Amino acid sequence: MPLDFLKRRGNQDDEATPVTPPASASTVIPEEIVAQEYQLKLYFAGKSSEGVRMKAGPNAMNELPSMLAGLAKSEIEVVEPLPIEYSEATPTIVRPSEAMQWLNAHHVHSPITRHALVVLESIDAIDLAFDTFACSMLDGETDTSGYPEYNAVVGGIASHWDEATGDMICRAVVGWGGRGVRGDTDRIGAKLLAGLLTNILASQYALGITAIERPVPAAGRGGLVCAHCGFASAHERAFYCPKCGMRLLRG
Ligand SMILES: [Zn+2]
Repeated sequence: MPLDFLKRRGNQDDEATPVTPPASASTVIPEEIVAQEYQLKLYFAGKSSEGVRMKAGPNAMNELPSMLAGLAKSEIEVVEPLPIEYSEATPTIVRPSEAMQWLNAHHVHSPITRHALVVLESIDAIDLAFDTFACSMLDGETDTSGYPEYNAVVGGIASHWDEATGDMICRAVVGWGGRGVRGDTDRIGAKLLAGLLTNILASQYALGITAIERPVPAAGRGGLVCAHCGFASAHERAFYCPKCGMRLLRG
């Protein structure tokens, strides 16, 4: 009896792993194909305030980080305008040349700043061809790698030199986003934007609210090298050096 039992078990194992060949694949096209669906929705959003005209000069530029006082939830980093060798830098990984430039330009920054640049450059809220950007975490949490969660708000103060007058123009910029969206993030972002604008207006260099005219690059005019600081601008229509704000000499 024990032998019969063992034999029977063996037969059962054979049934569990049949050696019959698999049915040959059908070449008949079904009327309705069965599709496995894949999807990723990325959501980036941000806000930018009106501009504030500042008394020109390098002192105003040094003030940028202090305009995040009371609102910054992490170290404040200042991202300077990109020089000519990074003029194609874009955070788009499928374009390797642009992506390499972007990484070479920004790998030194913190995960928070890099996240902010990806969000704000993707939605065109800042342009590092002419903007200087003082940036920090403003609300929310980071993940275990130090990168802001999708509902965290990042941002700070962006400044550029007005092409008509050479004055420094500051504006508040906030952004958030990633794999998800939450209803109250927009309201938190608006509140932070107002706080940042209040800080800009409280600066001793602030002259008042002004319309922002973004410097638009004109094709065919090469970037100029600043005679004052040696910066080679990636921006083609800059009358004023994006880095030090001095008048560029054309020659
Ligand atoms: Zn310069």
